[in-house]
Amino acid sequence: MTPLSEGKAKRLWATENPYTLRMEFKNDATAFNGEKKASFENKGHLNNEISTLIYGMLEKAGVPTHFVRQIDDTNVEVKKVDILMVEVIVRNFSAGSYCKRTGIEEGRAFSQPIVEFSYKDDALGDPLINDDYIREMGLATPEDLAHLRKSALQVNEILIDFFAKCGLKLIDFKLEFGRLVSDPSVIVLADEISPDGCRLWDLKTGEKMDKDRFRRDLGGVMEAYQEVLGRIKAQG
Ligand code: ADP
Ligand code: UDP
Repeated sequence: MTPLSEGKAKRLWATENPYTLRMEFKNDATAFNGEKKASFENKGHLNNEISTLIYGMLEKAGVPTHFVRQIDDTNVEVKKVDILMVEVIVRNFSAGSYCKRTGIEEGRAFSQPIVEFSYKDDALGDPLINDDYIREMGLATPEDLAHLRKSALQVNEILIDFFAKCGLKLIDFKLEFGRLVSDPSVIVLADEISPDGCRLWDLKTGEKMDKDRFRRDLGGVMEAYQEVLGRIKAQG
């Protein structure tokens, strides 16, 4: 059996249903546009559990997503979408490429969330783009982009509260959206939400509980992911 596609952290498999896919979480981790690579035992399982709980919570809060059901430890069934090639990043505090771009120190609170877009293209290193680029590149219409921005900010509000209850500060995160193959007029939240694509800091200690532990060789990567999962489960 061969997957329909294999990315850096997941594989997509066909199911008997033409409108759904099986999404498999791998143990592989990459950073710096794939330059740094490693594999962590149990990572796929932890990200699957975390993402499943978050998607369930978002669905309950009324956010339309691709999530159908968890299949097992490392697999979920999702609605098949045509992914929009725009990654939506929301920032509540300065970190990562924001600091690099501006020279501002890490951890500064923003007066309002920053929403930014990048072109989902590994060969180009997912460059930062703006509304005008997106329109002219035909990646999304201005109406669709307005919808992505609004949805991303709504998800941000929900996630800030959710993680605060887990004793975690949501620094920033990346979202992907897609059009349902079964009904292309509908755009839903797709991909995963896990410590791979979110920066999460312990509310009390400021300790990093996300993929920055891998990016920066801080150690205890899976221990941090496990702690995030434990706290999410504990708050129900
Ligand atoms: P990448 O190497 O791009 O980081 P991943 O390893 O995370 O990718 O693999 C997941 C791929 O599946 C991504 O390209 C993502 O856009 C895509 N994807 C996520 N959810 C869906 C879905 N519901 N339908 C189709 N494609 C999806
Ligand atoms: N992010 C991601 N995938 C990407 C780019 C960013 O999941 O291809 C996430 C990243 O984990 C962080 C947020 O989006 O939580 C903002 O990332 P940033 O632009 O600061 O880039 P980084 O320095 O992490 O490469």
